[in-house]
Amino acid sequence: MAIENPNKIFQKLVALRESLGIPLVKYNHTIKANPISEIEIQLETDGGIEVSATDIEQIAYGSLLSYKGVLAIVYIPDTYKTEAYLKDNNLLRPDRSGRMSEKAPKFHFSWCRTLQGMQDKQRYDRYVLLRNKNNKFKVWAREDRYSRSTELKELVRLFPCKYCLSGELANTSYTHQKIGYKGYESSWNATKKHEAVDSFNIGSFLEENEGTFNTIKYANSIRQRPRYSDSNVEADDYTSDFSEISRRVRENADWICSKCHVDMSNKKEGLHTHHKNGKKNINAAGNLMVLCALCHKGIDSFHKQMYVKPHIEAYILKNRP
Ligand SMILES: [Zn+2]
Ligand SMILES: [Zn+2]
Ligand SMILES: [Zn+2]
Repeated sequence: MAIENPNKIFQKLVALRESLGIPLVKYNHTIKANPISEIEIQLETDGGIEVSATDIEQIAYGSLLSYKGVLAIVYIPDTYKTEAYLKDNNLLRPDRSGRMSEKAPKFHFSWCRTLQGMQDKQRYDRYVLLRNKNNKFKVWAREDRYSRSTELKELVRLFPCKYCLSGELANTSYTHQKIGYKGYESSWNATKKHEAVDSFNIGSFLEENEGTFNTIKYANSIRQRPRYSDSNVEADDYTSDFSEISRRVRENADWICSKCHVDMSNKKEGLHTHHKNGKKNINAAGNLMVLCALCHKGIDSFHKQMYVKPHIEAYILKNRP
């Protein structure tokens, strides 16, 4: 049996389409099965996702970092340190003069002065974004000062950067007010600072900021921005201190929704801070309202397209008093 050349069949179809005057429509045949959750899964592996500095998304002037719409933290795997230096997992270690000092390197949860400084110096390090809940990292180290770096078999503990903790972001011109995570201030004494650095937990940080991050993402997605012409374009944007203000407001409300009174202390990512007058840069207490994701979605017509994850919706519905 003779099989006709498939190209010829295709040419006949093209001729038929053209003879009927039907325009060619280009379809995109790549169907992606929820790419966000794939990225989320990848970010939660020990290896995270390796990127260049420009791939890191900055939310609200760098106060939060994300990759393809997923909240994450960032670090540089090559530590330029020795294995012995890194592996005790303690924050403090004796320096050359014998004094106890804080161990480097650090991880970052904001686009802080350190990250900006490295980018300015054009250091082409590999940055890794991830969502590791236990503060342990895959790192590269050297055997001694003269050898080349290799990846360590065991994960080592890294600690949060102090610029990130004190809110010293690179985009200071937009920083309405410098505000530290859980009240962290650079003027604190060394002991108090060490305690804050040592007790920082990435899992809790992500959980506390997830709701705020999603709110900002949603607002940005529906926002109608004039194109690069209006100098007031940024006037109604979320401020860089909003993530911490939002965290405090929700903490002070004992993580309870002010409308339906559901207790979200075990599901913090489902509790949001809403701006009553719609102005995202007015963070006065009277303009802020603590709402669970479902009450937030129902507050007015601007919010009704807001996506609420099924596990959060189920939790709210089950736990509403
Ligand atoms: Zn930092
Ligand atoms: Zn509610
Ligand atoms: Zn809102």
